[in-house]
Amino acid sequence: MYDIIIVGAGPAGLSSGIYASRLGAKTLILEKLNPGGQITLSSEIENYPGVCEPKSGIEFMACWPEQAKRFGAEIKSEEVTKIIPNEKKYKIKTHNNEYEAKAIIVATGATPKRAGFEGEEEFIGRGVSYCAVCDGFFYKDKIVAVVGGGDTALEEALYLSKIAKKVYLIHRRDKFRAAPHTQKKVFNTPNIEIIFNETVKKVFGKEFVEGIILSSGKELRVDGVFVFVGMKVNNELVKDLVELNEWGEVKVNLNMETSRKGLYAAGDIRENSVKQVVAAAGDGAVAAINATKYIEGE
Ligand code: NAP
Repeated sequence: MYDIIIVGAGPAGLSSGIYASRLGAKTLILEKLNPGGQITLSSEIENYPGVCEPKSGIEFMACWPEQAKRFGAEIKSEEVTKIIPNEKKYKIKTHNNEYEAKAIIVATGATPKRAGFEGEEEFIGRGVSYCAVCDGFFYKDKIVAVVGGGDTALEEALYLSKIAKKVYLIHRRDKFRAAPHTQKKVFNTPNIEIIFNETVKKVFGKEFVEGIILSSGKELRVDGVFVFVGMKVNNELVKDLVELNEWGEVKVNLNMETSRKGLYAAGDIRENSVKQVVAAAGDGAVAAINATKYIEGE
């Protein structure tokens, strides 16, 4: 029996693991892929406090699992298939094993939806990005394309317009679904060029993105493509166990506690997440400290 099982080994999960194990809790972290999370797809991290020299996402996350293990956390590469609440403990099923814990921290994150154009996966971290706050600065005085017509796409296009020389905003219909006041700001921003009724067919380049081809066949020279076509919250394991908001994000209180006792959520899966590594790491610490207190109380 573990004290705490953490599901997901991105910044929120690993931070939880570091804090929980250092507080003396018998801790297991389960991750279906490699530890590190979606930030390992980022080409450079330069806004995490203390990281004064930019690092790649992979480099940045490299020692987090070792740090958690140093305090006694176990990390296993196993995909969790079910979380079953059982009296004052939880049973966790993976494909091959079953574990038990007094408290669970779910840190399974969110996955940006792909737009589906040719070369999208291949150029991730080499000009295709899903995070303007993370990668926007690398496009200072350059030309970028933003894909999408929702609030995120328009807000991020406005953010990028302050950094990049020019922003093409490419939307598949002739109307945005973003809030009217955001649309107004976009229409009034001189360096945003709106392209309606087009999708990106293909991205091309050698090492980095050099341009895109639209569905009409038109070619645009761009240095980067930012895709904001929605997020998929990875809530499958908890969607029937805890309260979610209208976007499927897990509702939590300031202790990262969900609507179910002993079940905590941290990072991009929780409501109002700002989807930044520093915030996910903070959530992880908050969840671990409170989960440990909960166990002691029980
Ligand atoms: P969203 O509202 O679902 O918008 C996704 C956009 O991407 C839509 O314009 C959609 O086009 C387009 N799209 C979807 N798949 C595509 C594809 N394969 N290729 C090209 N375009 C594609 O997603 P979101 O902007 O991330 O927002 C999610 C939720 O969070 C929304 O409810 C939003 O209001 C909310 N949000 C709120 C704020 C705020 O209040 N400040 C900020 C951000 C997000 P169609 O329009 O044709 O479907």
